Amino acid sequence: MEFLRPTTWDEALAAKADRPGAVPIQGGTDVMVEINFDVRRPEALLDLTRVPELRTWSLEDGRYRVGAAVPYTTIIEELGGPLPGLAQASRTVGSPQIRNRGSVGGNLGAASPAGDSHPPLLAAGAVIEVESRDGGVRMIPAHEFYLGVKRSALRPDELIRAVHLEPATGPQYFSKVGTRNAMVIAVCSFAVALHPGEGRVGTGLGSAAPTPRRALEAEEFLRRELDWNARLDPAVLKRFGELCAQAASPIDDVRGTADYRRHAIAVMARRTLTWAWNDYRGRRAA
Ligand SMILES: Cc1cc2nc3c(=O)[nH]c(=O)nc-3n(C[C@H](O)[C@H](O)[C@H](O)COP(=O)(O)OP(=O)(O)OC[C@H]3O[C@@H](n4cnc5c(N)ncnc54)[C@H](O)[C@@H]3O)c2cc1C
Repeated sequence: MEFLRPTTWDEALAAKADRPGAVPIQGGTDVMVEINFDVRRPEALLDLTRVPELRTWSLEDGRYRVGAAVPYTTIIEELGGPLPGLAQASRTVGSPQIRNRGSVGGNLGAASPAGDSHPPLLAAGAVIEVESRDGGVRMIPAHEFYLGVKRSALRPDELIRAVHLEPATGPQYFSKVGTRNAMVIAVCSFAVALHPGEGRVGTGLGSAAPTPRRALEAEEFLRRELDWNARLDPAVLKRFGELCAQAASPIDDVRGTADYRRHAIAVMARRTLTWAWNDYRGRRAA
């Protein structure tokens, strides 16, 4: 197996264009597990750890641009204020060791329906910046990125460069059900993001369908029914939970049954919206 070690972004793009079969590796917390267990034996590994810009984040034109290799620990420690949903999800990933190496770019590259960063990226309306030497830059909205189980819109010659997110304009929450509290793949997960300026609530479901996805009908329902100046109507909350559960198309597997997942999505949807709403009302009252 060849080991390619570019030191600049352009070198990395050239290497991927010349060897589309080369598997990119950043934190290696997915790739190395697969290699160790012989799930795959790539012809070449494309090590991106020497491309420094991938590990940095910046604020550009009012938007955060988070490099693909920025580890979860950095997101938790440095971006918890402006990107609270993503930071909350990052806190639930693996263990400190995994959070020190694992990245949102790697989570996107793996495109597992259970990846914890996906629901908050969907709820917040993130955009994924990808690039290839011959095709240039593409900006892909998160909701168009996931195409199937472990399949994404990324083309064979493209690399993920960064994730773009607006700073939160309202409360954001993430919730995850697992068989224990740490080092666990989500049985299912849910994220909510309030966008009060637009009168809109964003959602993201994880591990409850072949791909991470938004609960579009539930979002539309809240756009019509939420009174942003009042207490949260229990009937609205209940219906929101039902519509989020309806948006799921889960399977029975070793981690949980489809029925349990649908039930849990409804509970988490109600719970996270209540937390977010209480925060929102509390901030307005202060
Ligand atoms: C013990 C353990 C616990 C875990 N717990 C969790 C958890 O709780 N939640 C969770 O979501 N995940 C978990 N994971 C999975 C993993 O840590 C995450 O998916 C992490 O985000 C992967 O990031 P990475 O940088 O290590 O990716 P890597 O392993 O380096 O890469 C992952 C995938 O992305 C591709 N890739 C990497 N960088 C790029 C790029 N720039 N462009 C294109 N493709 C790229 C790779 O080719 C590969 O397919 C766990 C893993 C382990 C081993």
